[in-house]
Amino acid sequence: MESILGYMEQYDYENIFICQDKALNFKAIIALHDTTLGPATGGCRMWQYENEMDAIEDALRLARGMTYKYAAAGVNLGGGKAVIIGDPKRTDREPVFRALGKFINRLGGTYITGEDVGTTLRDMEYIRMETEYVVTLPTYLGGAGDIAPMTAFGTIRAMEACCKRVYGSDSLEGKRVAVQGLGAVGHNVVGQLHERGAVMVITDIDTEKVDAMVAKYGTDKVNPEAIYEVDCEVFCPCALGAIINDDTLGRLRCKIICGCANNQLKEERHGDLLEEKGLVYAPDYITNAGGTIYDTDRLEVGTVSHERGKEKVSRIYQNMQRVFDIADRDKIPAYLAADRMAEERIREIAKVKKYRDVLRP
Ligand code: NAD
Repeated sequence: MESILGYMEQYDYENIFICQDKALNFKAIIALHDTTLGPATGGCRMWQYENEMDAIEDALRLARGMTYKYAAAGVNLGGGKAVIIGDPKRTDREPVFRALGKFINRLGGTYITGEDVGTTLRDMEYIRMETEYVVTLPTYLGGAGDIAPMTAFGTIRAMEACCKRVYGSDSLEGKRVAVQGLGAVGHNVVGQLHERGAVMVITDIDTEKVDAMVAKYGTDKVNPEAIYEVDCEVFCPCALGAIINDDTLGRLRCKIICGCANNQLKEERHGDLLEEKGLVYAPDYITNAGGTIYDTDRLEVGTVSHERGKEKVSRIYQNMQRVFDIADRDKIPAYLAADRMAEERIREIAKVKKYRDVLRP
């Protein structure tokens, strides 16, 4: 990124806030992309960036990603992100996160934060001491708590929609699914696939996690590198990004790629190549929106409701179908259709918003 304003103009960002406190050695960036649908919302990342331009670019890029994620998920929030520049292992958490809370509070609700890479629910508690504009919170503070099971549920719903497209039925019974990564989301995916009668082949670099799942569910296991070559209906990436790349593309023996991992395509062209190979790819940010849909539900009505939140997450099935409809309509790959679906919703809601309510601003 050569010019901040040039980059902001290119992708139509609204604001960027640069925060600093010398005594605390605190430096943070808050980026707001688009607030058409609602307050800019997105987690706070803590990372040791090479330089401040990298941090600004990361905040901007991640904020824009949140705009698309919420818009496509049907959530009435805009896209934002905060990054704290610093060692994610730094121990003086309370002053650092309370400082961020103070800065967020100044924005008066234009930005709502949450947990992300390098931050924890405990950090969110510190932010909550200074501002109400934080969504990811433990249950004892009125939040949704651990959202990974809902991210897993959304992933399963996306997978069912993919099966419907490929096999004409959304049943996962007897489907062979290769699961890569058995962490917070992945182990829940395995449990929910087991309930649905899927046949699994699993892997993780952590062999203890693999052995625990094999013992619990009687799944097959393979070494991490062998997962790409498993003959299966669905490849389910739940670990790293960039796993669809020049090296792995030719090795895949699945019909569907549907998993929770972020940024699965190494480059956009890999999405085009999947299409050329006739594979069905479930765009990651549609598939993995379950946790955030569930987590942010209480912003609409004030309290966490498991039933209501789960029902909303379940709609990922219909969202995925809409992505495929747009892909067919416009003859474009699914990853582009997802972006188009988000952009169309923002454009449509912007039209409705010109009618000002008496009670709502
Ligand atoms: P996690 O850190 O709990 O789990 C990741 C797992 O992947 C770990 O068990 C790790 O050992 C394993 N792993 C790492 N490298 C591997 C490799 N080369 N081969 C096989 N396994 C490997 O993370 P998580 O919260 O479960 O998230 C998983 C993915 O989903 C991430 O990409 C994350 O960004 C994305 N995601 C998570 C959530 C959520 O609710 N937690 C929401 C949206 C997206």
